[in-house]
Amino acid sequence: MTIKAEYIWIDGTQPTALLRSKTKILSSSGELPIWGFDGSSTNQAPGRASDCVLKPVFSCPDPIRGGANLLVLCEVLLTDMTPHPTNTRAPLVEVATKYANQEPLFGIEQEYTMFRGSRPLGFPDHTGYPAPQGPYYCGVGADDIYGRPLVEAHLDACIAAGLSLSGINAEVMPGQWEFQVGPLGPVECSDQLWVARWLLHRIGEDHGISVTLHPKPVRGDWNGAGCHTNFSTKAMRETYDAVIGAAEALGKNAAEHVANYGHGIEDRLTGQHETAPFDEFSYGVSDRGASVRIPWQVAQEGRGYIEDRRPNANMDPYVVTRLMVDTCCSALA
Ligand code: ADP
Ligand code: MN
Ligand code: MN
Ligand code: MN
Ligand code: MN
Repeated sequence: MTIKAEYIWIDGTQPTALLRSKTKILSSSGELPIWGFDGSSTNQAPGRASDCVLKPVFSCPDPIRGGANLLVLCEVLLTDMTPHPTNTRAPLVEVATKYANQEPLFGIEQEYTMFRGSRPLGFPDHTGYPAPQGPYYCGVGADDIYGRPLVEAHLDACIAAGLSLSGINAEVMPGQWEFQVGPLGPVECSDQLWVARWLLHRIGEDHGISVTLHPKPVRGDWNGAGCHTNFSTKAMRETYDAVIGAAEALGKNAAEHVANYGHGIEDRLTGQHETAPFDEFSYGVSDRGASVRIPWQVAQEGRGYIEDRRPNANMDPYVVTRLMVDTCCSALA
């Protein structure tokens, strides 16, 4: 049996890494072998010592090629089999293992913006702007909604791949959408988010649409794109004290978190467009102008989860979930 295995990895592009992939033909569906690539072409190695190693860490059915074909998410290793400096997953696995007894769960809301050429979908081709924001969020109808065929194809692909999506919605800016992954453990949620991102870019090719995770794709009075990160531990799912404890812990470590929540965060966390200023930490019930929101149902039931609204759409989930687990679980321990 011939299987096409699409090996996917995260490169070394600065300041925001890109996804890369290439196909390996396998003759059986046994254990997925390690593989290599030219790190000098991905900002991961110098030309004179260019080999990097791909170690499969998560695989799922390939919903594009179908059949027995696979998507294979990999960690990047050095040739001595230690994690490459750009490998942010390995340190997450360490922290997740350390705090596994607190049973952390994540649900991540990935916002993104579709472009055709140099303009977002729904913007006039060359110059000018669409009508102001208002009707687009969760809208319906050709006046307000752009890109739905790609959105639906991506949702179907994620479900066929077995990814745990919990929903999708059109966003506040035209051409901007969101999908949610989780709730899942930190490593599982992050792996699935990276594969879902890869599928979005890949299916965009078939629609002539490029997807960007840029946090502020249009300057001015247009919403940026975030990656709200919802988080709970077993204790938070049982007591309100733990919910508040997690929010307080995030406040004590706010600067380190914001510095690692995605490039260009100062342009998005302005205090406008449903954000809190990047240099002021706040939390509140139902408050979409706070850094961290406690959903009203959580306050009412006295248990549940918190929403960290600060991460950018272009954040690395391996970094964000590691920081949140480390900060909150050490405080709740
Ligand atoms: P909103 O747009 O109102 O902020 P969404 O419905 O887009 O909310 O996203 C809420 C997210 O919270 C979902 O991804 C969901 O999986 C996640 N979630 C729900 N319960 C929990 C929990 N106990 N722990 C972590 N995440 C959770
Ligand atoms: Mn949402
Ligand atoms: Mn949203
Ligand atoms: Mn938003
Ligand atoms: Mn949200």
